[in-house]
Amino acid sequence: MTFIVAIDGPAGAGKGTITKQVSEKLGFINIDTGAMYRCVTLEMLEKNIDFDDNENIEKLLGEIKIDLKKKNGKDLFFLNGRDVTTEIRTKKINENVSQVSHIPIIRQNMSGLQRKMAIGKEVIMEGRDIGTNVFPDADVKIYLDATPEERANRRYKQNKEAGIESNYDEILENIKFRDYNDKTSKVAPLKMADDAIYLDSTNLNIDEVVEKVVSIIKDRLDRK
Ligand code: C5P
Repeated sequence: MTFIVAIDGPAGAGKGTITKQVSEKLGFINIDTGAMYRCVTLEMLEKNIDFDDNENIEKLLGEIKIDLKKKNGKDLFFLNGRDVTTEIRTKKINENVSQVSHIPIIRQNMSGLQRKMAIGKEVIMEGRDIGTNVFPDADVKIYLDATPEERANRRYKQNKEAGIESNYDEILENIKFRDYNDKTSKVAPLKMADDAIYLDSTNLNIDEVVEKVVSIIKDRLDRK
């Protein structure tokens, strides 16, 4: 059976944490589509490919291999066989990923890959355009939101825990910049699907959000 849960929303809304915990509770596969765009961005920067160089971008897309593996409960991302889990979270990637992800052939290619990854599976997929573009017929669609300040605060704490040095004001600025880019993009802009459930997590803790999401999914599963 294919069962798709789409979790969309802006940067830092808690999609990653929520998706992971919900997938563990329900035994679903979780797919972080932002990390896929981050892998492509890393490859573009390393190969020095200009963002308007369609010919070389197409070549890159034909050769690139992105793998998602689980190890000790942690999601690891491999780019052409190399573990890039930490590298794709650096400032340089944060500053470029929005632009890269809105290059039409890249988005087309990644959306196709995401659809393939979900065939015949119970999947919870997080991103920006899952419920609107990748899976417009998803079984459950949730739009997870929070204020920019709260989202910056969470990213800052997350980085601290992961031992990544960062600055709150810089994170807030980057979040606002990415919000603007994601929402005004001509290609698959970030917006809530008409039939999505809006969940504002600003004043909720992780457990409360996880509980709400799990109950929405269970309710839908019961009716399938
Ligand atoms: O979720 P995360 O912050 O890691 O995503 C990185 C960037 O990738 C986002 O700012 C957005 O520009 C892009 N993205 C996207 N479509 C998705 C997932 C991420 O455009 N489905």
